[in-house]
Parts: sequence; C-alpha cells; structure tokens
Amino acid sequence: MPRELAFFRGAIVPIAEAKVSVMTHALHYGTAVFEGIRGNWNEEQGKLFVFRIAEHYDRLLQGCRMLMMDIPYTTEQLCAITIELLQSCGYRQDLYIRPLAYKSQELVANLRLQDLSSDFTLIAVPFGAYIDAEGAIDCTTSSWRRIDDTVIPPRVKISGHYVNSILAKTEATLAGFDEAIMLTPDGDVSEGSGENLFMVTNGEIFTPPVADNNLVGITRDSAITLAREELGIDVVERRIRRSELYLADEVFLTGTAAHITPVGSLDRRPIGNGEVGPITAQIRDTYVDLISGNNPKYLDWCTEVPLEA
Ligand code: PMP
Repeated sequence: MPRELAFFRGAIVPIAEAKVSVMTHALHYGTAVFEGIRGNWNEEQGKLFVFRIAEHYDRLLQGCRMLMMDIPYTTEQLCAITIELLQSCGYRQDLYIRPLAYKSQELVANLRLQDLSSDFTLIAVPFGAYIDAEGAIDCTTSSWRRIDDTVIPPRVKISGHYVNSILAKTEATLAGFDEAIMLTPDGDVSEGSGENLFMVTNGEIFTPPVADNNLVGITRDSAITLAREELGIDVVERRIRRSELYLADEVFLTGTAAHITPVGSLDRRPIGNGEVGPITAQIRDTYVDLISGNNPKYLDWCTEVPLEA
C-alpha cells in the first residue's frame, strides 16, 4: 500500500503531521512559490518517471529569488529529496508532485520580504487528467486580464498571483467552458489560466513571447522542441491578437497538468473545423508517449525513480 507522506521541516513525515500555524506569513499574503511536476507511471516497464524535474526546481529557485526567499537546497538536492519522498510513498501510478517554498515566519502585520524566515515542503498525490473533456476543449476569453509584470511577476509560480488564474478559471467553468484564455492589459493573447498557448496558421506555429505575461512553461519549451525536432517547424514567438485565434487553423494549450490540450472552440466559435488539428495531434501524441519514458530520444527529460521490487 502506498503511504501518504510529505517532506516537511527537513524530514519525511505522514501528511497528516505536516501542519503550519495560522500565523504563517504565506497563508495571509500568498508569499510562496510552488511547482507542479508530473510523475508518470509506465505500466509495461513497471517504472515511475518524473518529467523534467531539474527544470522545475530551477524555476522554483528563480521564484525564491524573486521573493527573497532563502531555502537551504540546490536544484540537485531538491531533486534528491523528491526521489526519496517518492520512494518512501511507493506510488505506482501517475502523480502530481507539489513543491512549495513559503515565507514561514509566524508574523502577521508585516509587508516586507526581507528578514522573514522561509521553509520548503513537498507532497505527491495520485493524479490523472486535469481538464475533464474528451478531444478538443471549449474556451472563452476571460474578462480578467492576465497580471502584468508591473503588478506581480508572472514568469514564475508565485502563489499569490494564482488568484488571477483562479478568478479566470472560475468564471469560465461557471459559464460552461472548459478553460479561460487571458489577455494582457493591452489586449494581446497571454495564456490560459494554467497553460501556455500556441496557434497554428497556414502550417506555421506561433506562441506569445514570455514578455506578454505568461509563465515560462516547461511544457511550452517541450512543445517548441517537439515542433522543431519532430515536425521540422520552428515556433515563432510573437504578439498574438485575440481575433487571430478566431481565424486560426489550430490552437492548443500546454501545461504540466493539461499536457497538450487541443482547443476546439473559442467564445463559441469553432477553431478550424472544431476537431483536433493534425499538427496539434502529432505534438500531443509524441509528448504523451515520451513523458512515460517510452521514447529513447527524450529519455534525458525523464528521471526514473528506483522503486523497491
Ligand atoms: N501558465 C500558467 C499560469 C500555469 O500555471 C502553468 C502550469 N504550471 C503553465 C502556464 C504551464 O507551465 P508548465 O508547462 O511549466 O507546467
């Protein structure tokens, strides 16, 4: 039987024992940085692979710098802690791995980042599909604008800025859509509430530059690599206007949780013929196969967790 464990205050403990005080700074102000990493179970091989683990921890540490958080671990040490936790838990299924670095000081009325203690915790939970839809999904343009770099840095996963994504996702799903597409304050396309965005037009693939307020996505980078390596297409990073999406041949979203998700409609207008487009399908199928360690060419993206026999 797998065990529900957390890495907490420097040790592996039962999740039920991993608790913080109501005085914790991060609980009040969102002064934390997190990651979402997938552990992918390969049934045929009987192996568990973690996808692009070092890149996730590099991004976490960048977020820590942004929030002036000193956690006493390097990327290598964070990877080792993660492997150790997964070995101790013993899961043999797909997982969502959630590292969290947070301002742990028990001090409430304080709006400075400096001089506050920080801590790091980590949990892993069984996880399947993120977006509950078969085939291509239905999206809407959010009335909530994506936070600008002048408001809260959007390029790293700062907990507090997720209120922005949550407002957008809530609005979209209450209105019957699967996902929200957010625009920059200037009205350019930024990204989904938890995914980066790609557009295919006349065989060319475009994605908004990171400067248009999106997260520096690791699946985004994987999709750019796959487009180049597998399809021979260099993805062009450029500003995208909302109306271009209406006329695109294909649109797809990328994210650790969402994988490569085709968009079938935006604001009730079909994209292309409303089905999964051929370029999206090729990138998605290659991606979904390789994250479980099936493709030797991309095995260096997959870290195997040695499990007891
Ligand atoms: N944008 C946002 C706002 C996200 O939360 C995520 C999920 N981490 C992404 C994009 C996709 O990033 P990644 O591919 O690194 O998971």
